Amino acid sequence: MKHLHLLFLCCLSWVFTSCKEKQNKRPEYALVIHGGAGVILASDLSDEEEKAYYFSLDTALQIGENILKNGGSSLDAVEAVIVFLENDSLFNAGKGAVFTYEGKNELDASVMFGKDKTAGSVAGVTTIKNPIKAARAVMERSPHVMMVGTGAESFAKEIGIEMVDPSYFFTTRRWNSHIELKNKENNPSVTKDSIDVDKKKGTVGCVALDKNGNISAGTSTGGMTNKKYNRVGDSPLIGAGTYADNQSCGISCTGHGEYFIRFSVAKDVAALVEYKNMDIRAAADEVIHQKLGKTGGEGGLIGIDKQGNIAMSFNTPGMYRGYCIPGKKETFIYK
Ligand code: ASP
Repeated sequence: MKHLHLLFLCCLSWVFTSCKEKQNKRPEYALVIHGGAGVILASDLSDEEEKAYYFSLDTALQIGENILKNGGSSLDAVEAVIVFLENDSLFNAGKGAVFTYEGKNELDASVMFGKDKTAGSVAGVTTIKNPIKAARAVMERSPHVMMVGTGAESFAKEIGIEMVDPSYFFTTRRWNSHIELKNKENNPSVTKDSIDVDKKKGTVGCVALDKNGNISAGTSTGGMTNKKYNRVGDSPLIGAGTYADNQSCGISCTGHGEYFIRFSVAKDVAALVEYKNMDIRAAADEVIHQKLGKTGGEGGLIGIDKQGNIAMSFNTPGMYRGYCIPGKKETFIYK
């Protein structure tokens, strides 16, 4: 009888440990992307448009997954995914960026490597085809973290990054939104809230965890439609729009940048994960729904923690998004 008891206890402890191991086992790699959060309603997208978005999200995931699956670094995966999304005019980053109040495209991007917390970013650039490449170059090939405007452009040109004429970024769809919004802004009977609704949608971001356990995060955007006079949002700001640390998690944000800056959103989520040992999904929800949501700050974020857990949290009607881990890939648009 005593032996039976012992055997039973041994079995119980084996089941318990193996369940726990299963729970804590991190996937070989993980990847999560966003294509912007905002008032994205099924009623506003035609079937073709919806299909096009799903197709792009899926292709972006495939690009990143191929790199990670073959043992590539999270940094390479993040860059490749964001380059693809920047080149896709569906999104508000690179080609397809929104227009400023003065009718220009001013682009911001940033990247961070969680292994050593190195980071790079560019802001307000108008002639760099893929701002995320310039952000990575600032991180790896300069002693600085952030470069802006014509200085960032000179640096990018000097090291051989592809430059384009500003007209490369033009799309009719974004130009029409710029004009439409300008008319609304100049019409005193239109409320500020309905104007704000139109200003954002389409920033892109990516977070990856590679086979070596390194986390990287990156974000790229055209900012907010009709932004005035060299306004810079959260996307190129480390700790606000982008953050990565192997000790906690990687985060990329999208939404009303002014709020994301004031609330240091990306770093705030990482701090909850690191110092409070919070689950990344709970931490993301806490910041997006409680801290930010309660003050009227709209947007969302994606993240991956060191165990490979994935967060995709937003307080808007939709966020273009998707993730993959070995054997599983999913994309979403609405809530
Ligand atoms: N966060 C970006 C900005 O404020 C915009 C966006 O994500 O839609 O510039």
